[in-house]
Amino acid sequence: MANATNSKSRYGGSVSWNPWHGCHKVSAGCLNCYVYRMDGRHDKDASVVQKTSGFYLPVTHARGGGYKVPSGSFFWTCFTSDFLLEDADVWRGEAWRMIRERSDCAFLFITKRITRFSQCLPEDWGAGYANVSVCCTVENQAKADERLPVFQDAPIRHKAIVCEPLLERIDLSPYLGAWVGSVTVGGESGEQARTCDFDWVLDIRSQCIRAGVPFYFKQTGANFVKDGKRYRIKRALQHAQARKANIDT
Ligand code: SF4
Repeated sequence: MANATNSKSRYGGSVSWNPWHGCHKVSAGCLNCYVYRMDGRHDKDASVVQKTSGFYLPVTHARGGGYKVPSGSFFWTCFTSDFLLEDADVWRGEAWRMIRERSDCAFLFITKRITRFSQCLPEDWGAGYANVSVCCTVENQAKADERLPVFQDAPIRHKAIVCEPLLERIDLSPYLGAWVGSVTVGGESGEQARTCDFDWVLDIRSQCIRAGVPFYFKQTGANFVKDGKRYRIKRALQHAQARKANIDT
């Protein structure tokens, strides 16, 4: 997700902040969710959603007195859950307060629940906190048509679209425009990974070029088809293979 928005380049170090852990599968893209896969390896039930011990990380103080996470940091937020998850409604207000307190840092989360966005906002949100970027995931045409009109209208200062795992050819063109900071595309990883076809990737790239939206091919996934030939690609090589394609704009 390193290229999910252009905003990260303005910030210093990055840090993961997972205020809660666990999630519920909500659409086709969740089928082989990595949170479930990782938790499954440790006999943990990923459908149990819990606040983590790192909940207060953004406002935790170091021994010297200042914040533990320095000013100018970039928080990858809620990557083992969904920031807009129903179960987290009771905790999100506090999370927003921390995000507001750390206006000297940037926060980015990715969601499959953008349709809940309007009911998850703090009172002073207005046109959006300047330090928050939101990425909306769309894995197929049906989810693009359901989520992107809502995303387009949502009061968010920095928006990006993520097609990952890309599960079929998607026509994003009705939605692309200056409001979209970037489109990131990637395949699925894991043993059960579904096909990602390079033709679908190139098609979205063409749509982005026509609309003047930056495009990033993040990773091939484990089950990649190119020119009709299927490739099984190891996790360690999936990002490198995408970079090799050299198609970012
Ligand atoms: S929304 Fe994301 S974290 Fe939640 S189940 Fe789906 S893929 Fe996993």
